[in-house]
Amino acid sequence: MSLDDVLARIDADLDGATDRLLDLLRIPSISTDPAYKAECDRAADWLVADLASIGVKAEKRPTPGHPMVVGHVDGDGPHVLFYGHYDVQPVDPLNLWDRDPFDPTIEETPAGKVIRGRGSSDDKGQLMTFVEACRAYHTVTGKLPCRITFFFEGEEESGSPSLVPFMKDNAEELKSDVALICDTGLFQSKTPSIVTMLRGLLGEQLTITGPDKDLHSGMYGGASINPIRVLSRIIAGLHDDQGRVTVPGFYDGVPDLPDEIMEQWRGLNFDHAGFLGDVGLSHPAGEQDRSALEMIWSRPTCEANGIIGGYTGEGFKTVLPSQASAKISFRLVGTQDPHAIRESFRAYVQSMLPPDCTAEFHGHGASPASQMSTDHPAFEAARGALSDEWPEDAAYTGCGGSIPIAGYFKQILGTDAMLIGFAKDNDQIHSPNEKYDLESFHKGTRSWARILDALAKKA
Ligand SMILES: [Zn+2]
Repeated sequence: MSLDDVLARIDADLDGATDRLLDLLRIPSISTDPAYKAECDRAADWLVADLASIGVKAEKRPTPGHPMVVGHVDGDGPHVLFYGHYDVQPVDPLNLWDRDPFDPTIEETPAGKVIRGRGSSDDKGQLMTFVEACRAYHTVTGKLPCRITFFFEGEEESGSPSLVPFMKDNAEELKSDVALICDTGLFQSKTPSIVTMLRGLLGEQLTITGPDKDLHSGMYGGASINPIRVLSRIIAGLHDDQGRVTVPGFYDGVPDLPDEIMEQWRGLNFDHAGFLGDVGLSHPAGEQDRSALEMIWSRPTCEANGIIGGYTGEGFKTVLPSQASAKISFRLVGTQDPHAIRESFRAYVQSMLPPDCTAEFHGHGASPASQMSTDHPAFEAARGALSDEWPEDAAYTGCGGSIPIAGYFKQILGTDAMLIGFAKDNDQIHSPNEKYDLESFHKGTRSWARILDALAKKA
């Protein structure tokens, strides 16, 4: 058999694959609403049965919430784990949908055919691209191309409360050579990408206390220290004139971007002006000599997210407040240590305090960044396979926000994860009239067939 036979099978079976996806989309597996508990169960049962039809021993595994679906198939070559989620977001407001969200259909649009319905893009359609690629292998060769573990979650849209405990309890079973996660999109809706960098997050709430009660600014103004003034100086001092964060040791563990990644990012032709223009801005405000894309994907930040102090109601009150506080967050990259930065930030604040002022701190989460090792041969194999399928070459990209699941694979299982997805920016995930381009579904399925072929050959 050749890869071409498998790809030909995928092309020939597109209608069958679409019908199966529509079937799954008819199940209203809304995870956050207890009224749909039985439907989540039904979606899990559907997947167990569908995996069985391609020779995968799968079962529904209970959690305190909705069940996981875990399936294994033996094979030669590397052990690949695939993750997707079968639950969906609520559909409200229903009146903004052009059709019943759980009566999906194939719709002709000026931009081509789309699969319309809740979950079509996020994440049932994406999940099924991988299953359909496996089905084509099973049909053509009677088996799957390598050892595969299927891992489907039913609580992703409601905060994944059972995910970490389940991964910890079943770590041995879920360990693999590489994890594939299909829940992201094409970069700028056209370039296939593998997300390899996700920033971490550290939060601190800081309260400065001066006088032991609120004072009248006429009676005490001038004589009393004002905590708002102290807080403002502290926040203003967090960045220098070059936009760099001044907290001592902050840049320890921030890696330089390798030349080849820099080259790939330049090739993405990111619309920097449009990115800022869309929010009414024209000048990048971060570190000098860095592009906006570098800033959001590969550089750490420090931002004040809120400031509280004094009188902020209608009218005016000449108060000299006893306290002022701020919420400060840091996005982290590379191997920056959130705990070391927390300590350093607190020491910096203490060093800025004038006499008579005290500082109190309250920590809000501290998660390190996830950086995947792209020197793992699976990454280049997958990137080559994606480049073969799509008109544009695939790139390694970053993600400024957080996709916790990728970090969990790395932290709990020690497995590098590749985030590869085929959604487009206008798929309206989580919104009314969600859709998935039929082309994304088709080429996504072909992409996985190519990736599995490349991974199996690498072993
Ligand atoms: Zn999703």
